[in-house]
Amino acid sequence: MPSQDQPRILVIEDELPIRKFLRILLESQGFVVTETDTAAKGIGHAVAEPPDAVVLDLGLPDRDGLTVIQQLREWSQLPIIVLSARGRESDKVAALDAGADDYLTKPFGAGEFMARLRVALRHSSRVATGIESAPFQVGDLMVDLSRREVTLGGESVRLTPTEYRLLVVLVRNAGKVVTHRQLLKDVWGPDSVSENQYLRVYMGQLRRKLEHDPARPQHLKTEPGVGYRLIDE
Ligand code: CA
Repeated sequence: MPSQDQPRILVIEDELPIRKFLRILLESQGFVVTETDTAAKGIGHAVAEPPDAVVLDLGLPDRDGLTVIQQLREWSQLPIIVLSARGRESDKVAALDAGADDYLTKPFGAGEFMARLRVALRHSSRVATGIESAPFQVGDLMVDLSRREVTLGGESVRLTPTEYRLLVVLVRNAGKVVTHRQLLKDVWGPDSVSENQYLRVYMGQLRRKLEHDPARPQHLKTEPGVGYRLIDE
């Protein structure tokens, strides 16, 4: 019997080699794994015994993975990491906008997968416990949302109100990819979700203030065709 404190991961994926890879990897890290090969069975498992996170393939035999996300999000905020084929940026964006936490492009490595999963689990426990007030700190960048304070290498950084709002959205989602649409909606409002040039301009400004080499950002990473990610580890 698995003990109560071992986190449980539900894997919904029709490719057997990927399921095997994930099972071996996750079990070696102390997770309990349930695997299933269709959307319908996956939703059934998630309802019967809600896991701590779901790993979801977008290309399933019976239903689009996107509908699985939409169904899960009707009643649950549990972390969802999607797996998708290379070159399907629009699928990833649709999945993230539907409420998935993050994505991995096949083929992916063990380290990359575990990093995404750790971030998603950490984020969900922070949200669940309401502990979002601790300052965000990685490398020499520190963002303290409760004090509205940003420092780089101990030096205070002055941001415009819009730059700060953009950074706040990224900090609240630290480690996770945030889509262009989500950033535009949260910073500029629902009428601006297609104004991608706002983002390019303000992300450039943020990088000039927060990166030692803005051309090779260490904190504010671009996810091509999808959005941006604030690196948190
Ligand atoms: Ca598939």
